[in-house]
Amino acid sequence: MKTRFTGSFTQQEPLPEAAIEAAVRVMRTGRLHRYNTVSGEVAEAALLEREFADWIGAKYCLSVASGGYALATALRALGVGPGNRVLTNAFTLAPVPGAIASVGAVPVFVGVTEGLVIDLDDLAAKSGQADVLMLSHMRGHICDMDRLMAICDGAGIRVIEDCAHTMGARWNGVMSGRHGAIGCYSTQTYKHLNSGEGGLLVSDDAEAMARAVMLSGSYMFHDRHLAAPGPEAFAAVTYDTPNISGRMDNLRAAILRVELASLPDKCARWNERYRTVEAGLAGVPGLTLIDRPEAEDYVMSSFQFLLLDWPGEDVAEVVARCAARGVELKWFGAPEPQGFTSRYHFWRYAGPKPMPATDRVLAGLLDMRLPLTFTLEDCALIATIIRDEVTEVRARQPGQETVW
Ligand SMILES: *Cc1c(COP(=O)(O)O)cnc(C)c1O
Repeated sequence: MKTRFTGSFTQQEPLPEAAIEAAVRVMRTGRLHRYNTVSGEVAEAALLEREFADWIGAKYCLSVASGGYALATALRALGVGPGNRVLTNAFTLAPVPGAIASVGAVPVFVGVTEGLVIDLDDLAAKSGQADVLMLSHMRGHICDMDRLMAICDGAGIRVIEDCAHTMGARWNGVMSGRHGAIGCYSTQTYKHLNSGEGGLLVSDDAEAMARAVMLSGSYMFHDRHLAAPGPEAFAAVTYDTPNISGRMDNLRAAILRVELASLPDKCARWNERYRTVEAGLAGVPGLTLIDRPEAEDYVMSSFQFLLLDWPGEDVAEVVARCAARGVELKWFGAPEPQGFTSRYHFWRYAGPKPMPATDRVLAGLLDMRLPLTFTLEDCALIATIIRDEVTEVRARQPGQETVW
């Protein structure tokens, strides 16, 4: 009888008691809307923005309704509009090209490497096609940000960083989200902070940030923000910036303020889990682990590996066998989009062009979550199950019979 894993890949930890108490305190006031304050009161949303800006080392921060809303707002704040082209990763999740489409712009996809980061040669080749890059640090893999910024600065491209999977990570000591013009984060349940839904946007650019605050639905209450630019920045944008309502509320902000304090500890615990799975999968023939560069200080709340150049039916067989033993792998090569997983060629509204080198990587790419409810023993068991099933399926491939 084969061992089976019985944990849930979608079960996050409960919220800390202090976060629950903070939420209850807000509910007792009835003032959940961020601009509903009594004299002398500072809203939880404003406090969250100040604290997140300080933590990440940014001048300005805006909290909003979701990560996807933060991305669309960042695009609008930089002046992206209908018909504009925006460079973005071919390997990302649907809300990223979706944010671009939501402002009437057109995504131009850039390939992925075997290291699961944006292909910087492809980016350089396409750099004349757009003046904004929406860079997705997909699944926590960070590219050579020094080279990326050199390419973009050289081509006059402004960078929006999608840090949905890199909150707390660094490249060469610089926090993810602090390389480009604007950094966007998600606080949706599956990300590094959990308020159900929510998003954050950071920048040092006063004009872009004043626009973002107006866009989020601040009416004329920007003076109640603690991490927004001064009145002169708003004076310049007030009359030509629409209100596209998408504010954060005080209930979620109160929860997030408490969670933020334990984020560094959570990041360390995710990485312990990641390294346990990585060690358990080292040296499995046919299975490629992802190299992590020295300059990358990652936070891995998920795990990826490649079955590079495997026949599709064999990858599907590994997925099915692991699922039968309780290990949920998401496959980026599946013939149809499933759950949260889809790939660029399904985003037909964007008119994607075939990218063979990217297709090769995605066809072999497997992905799973590592929630903090998993113990290190759980992670070791998951690795053993994957190792066994990959080894067995591979043994049946032509030319591999000699393994047995
Ligand atoms: C989750 C996610 C988003 C969007 O965040 P939401 O808060 O769910 O809107 C954007 N990009 C990536 C890579 C994500 O995983």
